[in-house]
Amino acid sequence: MAAELGHVTLYPEGRLCACGNKGCLEAYAAASAVVKAAQEMLQAGTASEGLRKLAASGLKLTSARVYELARENDPSAQEIYRQVGRALGLAIANFIAIFDIETFVLGGGAVDAWDMFEKSMFEEVARRSYVWRNDPRKILKSSLGSHAGIFGAAYLAFQ
Ligand SMILES: [Zn+2]
Repeated sequence: MAAELGHVTLYPEGRLCACGNKGCLEAYAAASAVVKAAQEMLQAGTASEGLRKLAASGLKLTSARVYELARENDPSAQEIYRQVGRALGLAIANFIAIFDIETFVLGGGAVDAWDMFEKSMFEEVARRSYVWRNDPRKILKSSLGSHAGIFGAAYLAFQ
């Protein structure tokens, strides 16, 4: 079970992860994390008007809908994706320090919102990794999107 990188702890007292730990990368950088962050803002009373309207509309709160809000310059939705980028950047800086990985390929549902989190992700990696500052690694968006797991499972069967 090595390299379960989504379950490294970023924030010791952070959001509860589905694995039972608190503050995992996956609890901050996944489609489900985007929805959770929006719900937290709504419960705390800090959500933007756009996010409150979406929640009151009766439509299901999804990462795709939060993404659409972010594209419409909604401040809460944009902050949620900045948080996603900071979590990814923090984790990637750690992975560079541990493994010196040259190319990161990010997949999964949250990656569809790449344009909303890439700036804060790259800023966070640069802030935290001197290795990166001297020699930036590649961070790429997977062309398989959220289907990478299915392709991996199929490949195992072909082998
Ligand atoms: Zn976890």
